[in-house]
Amino acid sequence: MLLAANWKMNKTPTEARAFVREYLVALPRDVKTPTVILPPFPALTVLAEELEDVPPEKVSFGAQNLHNEVKGAFTGEVSASMLKDCGCRWATVGHSERRRIFGEQNEFLNKKLRAALSQNLTPIYCIGETLEEREAGKLEEILVTQLTEGFEGLSSASVERTVIAYEPVWAIGTGKTATPEQAQEAHAFVRRTLADKLQVNARKMEILYGGSVTPENAYSLLSQKDIDGALVGGASLKVDSLLSLLAASDRVLQEKK
Ligand code: PEP
Repeated sequence: MLLAANWKMNKTPTEARAFVREYLVALPRDVKTPTVILPPFPALTVLAEELEDVPPEKVSFGAQNLHNEVKGAFTGEVSASMLKDCGCRWATVGHSERRRIFGEQNEFLNKKLRAALSQNLTPIYCIGETLEEREAGKLEEILVTQLTEGFEGLSSASVERTVIAYEPVWAIGTGKTATPEQAQEAHAFVRRTLADKLQVNARKMEILYGGSVTPENAYSLLSQKDIDGALVGGASLKVDSLLSLLAASDRVLQEKK
């Protein structure tokens, strides 16, 4: 189980520091679910300072994006080695906002996945369908394409080092959540696709659900067999709310997984 907090373009470094301090004070000693905080770039070094003595099994941090090139004339971009040097363990790749607003496509995301893996960052590779695609019956086709093109040419070992986030685009930031059954069905399909098309040990891989996860719906989503955690935007911005999500996840861990 894993709880990833995608802060998107929210929180200054000062606000990030205050959040983490409050979070660590309130974090239950016996917490089982690791939290991964994904702040905007300027807050990364602040998180490195605040989490220096915190075991990564409890709280760690990573980036929301990276560039595939190592260095050079790419104004405004940040490389994997820069993130590594900041203390990041994780790098999000292919969030639907990057795909939709910034036009990032699977072929480019493949390069980003390689860049992240080359620096031993664990990629959180986001996939998911739009509402039009779902309604047109293209859910499976979209997921297969995002997985096979995103991981094109990568070894099974590299794919297995990646965490997948299934995020139906229509559920992100909209308050519309997939039902637990819809989410489970998509997750099971993703796991089968990883095994069948990419020949990996898909049982070993973590598949997170993302899309309007809240303290109210987290337990029913996380209880599903193939849901191994959550990638959370809006509900990760307040300490109380993130702690409630963590409690829901720990409850699921205790009860069934
Ligand atoms: C996300 O940012 O990946 C996300 C799922 O956002 P929200 O939880 O706000 O829908």
